Amino acid sequence: IPRGGASSVSAGGAAARRLPVGVRKPSLRVVVTGGAGFVGSHLVDKLLARGDSVIVVDNFFTGRKDNVAHHLGNPRFELIRHDVVEPILLEVDQIYHLACPASPVHYKFNPIKTIKTNVMGTLNMLGLAKRVGARFLLTSTSEVYGDPLEHPQKESYWGHVNPIGVRSCYDEGKRTAETLTMDYHRGAGVEVRIARIFNTYGPRMCLDDGRVVSNFVAQALRKQPMTVYGDGKQTRSFQYVSDLVDGLVTLMESNHIGPFNLGNPGEFTMLELAQVVKETIDPGASVEFKPNTADDPHMRKPDISKAKSLLNWEPKISLKQGLPRMVSDFQKRIMDEK
Ligand code: NAD
Ligand code: UDP
Ligand code: UDP
Repeated sequence: IPRGGASSVSAGGAAARRLPVGVRKPSLRVVVTGGAGFVGSHLVDKLLARGDSVIVVDNFFTGRKDNVAHHLGNPRFELIRHDVVEPILLEVDQIYHLACPASPVHYKFNPIKTIKTNVMGTLNMLGLAKRVGARFLLTSTSEVYGDPLEHPQKESYWGHVNPIGVRSCYDEGKRTAETLTMDYHRGAGVEVRIARIFNTYGPRMCLDDGRVVSNFVAQALRKQPMTVYGDGKQTRSFQYVSDLVDGLVTLMESNHIGPFNLGNPGEFTMLELAQVVKETIDPGASVEFKPNTADDPHMRKPDISKAKSLLNWEPKISLKQGLPRMVSDFQKRIMDEK
């Protein structure tokens, strides 16, 4: 098998960086694992729009063909049904590794599969990156900080994570994925990037994935009470998906390994979020309290000064601006259900 990434179009290769001013970079061959999911499908839109060739590798556990159906027929787009837990041979320049269920409801559904995806899936994609000389970006998570004792969280914080709890398949799985990524970098010379993503929302989220923004929006649209877990005083910081996708591409193209927090520092309690959803969708919407889930982090807010100074990246879209953009998509899909 030829060494694809080592060719003249290699993203990270010296050839690409030495192009004279004014000469357009040749288009890249990019793999997006998990590209049929929520974040992945928006990333695929951006990469195709800038002229790259994109291969989506997805097992459709939580992703949907519908999310990328508008690209079928585009000669620069390919969709492969494949589980990243199994090895795969591809010839590419860049790998965005997103494959992994992200909603707690989904990742707790089959915890053994979740940790296999994080460990074996990431190992396979790093093995692929090593073989072809591709640059590899891991989408890690703010969950690596666990129930944090430092607030807001900086990348230098090592976290406060339960290794044997019901969320561990995801938190510890992603921590191991970060370890593998750094070991392939140090030990095998793979060019790597690590993004730690904070709660992100937007169009194409699964309607019933149990995440708080999708739950509240779907509930308010269906005229059901919004389910607040616990006392609703726990906090999260919500990032609109286009800001995240800009951050991921900026990081991939940068000369920095990371890890970088990618999130919106605007922090809300769940009760405040319910209020914003109410103002956006239905002033008559009500709230219903439910017991909270185990190991739920009490607060979460990114310190993004590292991404701001080194990547010149920061989110642009506030919760009040972003929510309406997601509502129209949810409205249409809820109507289609009927
Ligand atoms: P998602 O569930 O919508 O997308 C995940 C995609 O991965 C789906 O298309 C799914 O079918 C695919 N997938 C899962 N297991 C797979 C496997 N074994 N083989 C191949 N494909 C597989 O989730 P998302 O919100 O788009 O998240 C994407 C990535 O970003 C995930 O790695 C997640 O951990 C990370 N992340 C997301 C958030 C967020 O708020 N959305 C926050 C932190 C981290
Ligand atoms: N791998 C893959 N595609 C490739 C190269 C490797 O899926 O193009 C897998 C490979 O099957 C192995 C993993 O990635 O399970 C790690 O590969 P590496 O070469 O680093 O380790 P080794 O195969 O020597 O254990
Ligand atoms: N949550 C809630 N109601 C819901 C779903 C979630 O109050 O219907 C809370 C949950 O307890 C947590 C926060 O919202 O404190 C964020 O949960 P989510 O599952 O969206 O993401 P994560 O816990 O991974 O940050």
